[in-house]
Amino acid sequence: MKFSLMHPREQLITIMERIYGFEMTTTSGGNLSILDENGDIWITPAGIDKGGLTPQDIICVKPDGTIVGPHKPSSEFPFHRAIYEKRPDFRGIVHAHPPALVAFSIARKIPKTSIIPQARIICGEVGYAPYRLPGSQELGAVIAETFAQNFDIVLLENHGVVTGAEDLLTAFQRFETLDFCARTLIHARKLGKVRKLAEEEIELSRKYGKRLATFKPVHHTSIERELRRNIVKVAHRAYDHLLMTSTGGTVSARVDENSFLITPTGVDRLYLDIDDIVLIRDGQRERRKRPSRAARLHQAIYEAHPAIGAIITAHSPAVTAYSITGQPFDTRTIPESYIVLRDIPLVPYGEQFGGGKKIAKRLSADVPVLLLQNDAILTTGATITQAFDRLEVADFSARAVIDTLAIGKLVPIGAEEVKEIEAKFLS
Ligand SMILES: [Zn+2]
Repeated sequence: MKFSLMHPREQLITIMERIYGFEMTTTSGGNLSILDENGDIWITPAGIDKGGLTPQDIICVKPDGTIVGPHKPSSEFPFHRAIYEKRPDFRGIVHAHPPALVAFSIARKIPKTSIIPQARIICGEVGYAPYRLPGSQELGAVIAETFAQNFDIVLLENHGVVTGAEDLLTAFQRFETLDFCARTLIHARKLGKVRKLAEEEIELSRKYGKRLATFKPVHHTSIERELRRNIVKVAHRAYDHLLMTSTGGTVSARVDENSFLITPTGVDRLYLDIDDIVLIRDGQRERRKRPSRAARLHQAIYEAHPAIGAIITAHSPAVTAYSITGQPFDTRTIPESYIVLRDIPLVPYGEQFGGGKKIAKRLSADVPVLLLQNDAILTTGATITQAFDRLEVADFSARAVIDTLAIGKLVPIGAEEVKEIEAKFLS
């Protein structure tokens, strides 16, 4: 379903479900709005359970202040209206109090977004509004003034966060991406010093992704159709488990010697469907489709490694904490981790934007997973399931090691035991 063609009521319900489902708001906290072409503001109601909203609960406030609907509009309506007045380019606003962002708001610190390029590109710089009483005109004024300085995200002191955009989905994606940054930074600070990207490094990412020539497929084999479905399933699962964000993360699978399927760029991972998946054959893309910008990198890997059948790049907050601190990611924690992941090398930032041959060379039967500095984790496998398992095990391992820091020192499996594991499982 095309999100942009949905009625404002449905858009608001859909996004509230996503926010509530990801534990980024409570039953009482948070509010969303849409400004439509008539100047009407559609907004979530005050005092209604956020876990069970229906389209009929959504309130419409007319430009003259008339309220249409069965409830009172959100008590934060004044700041929504004040923001739309200062930012005529906005059509959607998201506000909530997710724990990781509240942690920053009460420590009175702004989460950095230049930790991975995608986050910085989606969020930009984050503004900061001083504390004011909830529901007051004063709160509306300080938030709107901060948005007027061209920030698309404003952190509210001792309160939460507000994001705005040209549509509600983009405002949500900014909100979700900033929440990802906050979660990642909280993990990372336990590990060590965070490496921020310089502007020139982010620029490298913006320029990345040469357009491929197109071809028109004459038929779609049954194997290809099955892989399309499996790619969609795994991308949804990765998204549901917070291993990917709505705008970040790629899955590809080999179809045959010279072709593979890959997820597209610019499609929300939750709404991904089989016809969005792009077939790449002999270096050309299926016409009218935009593959992930990493298509050439994946192609180089498939060309160099006939045994690789699937590749996933993703960012879970815990794994990304390693990629932005550069701390060694020790997988000799439990036998499962070492057997599935082996040792994971850290690839210096920027190498992924080359033609892909250098990255392909780093992979081997003994090195199935790479950590890309200030970017993603790249897992490979003979099948999509194996590549996905590696992603999940990497996330679990990273979370376990970071949690260990709070209770004691990590005691890795010894060299003798590792040899024993290798002899039994990996030879
Ligand atoms: Zn609030």
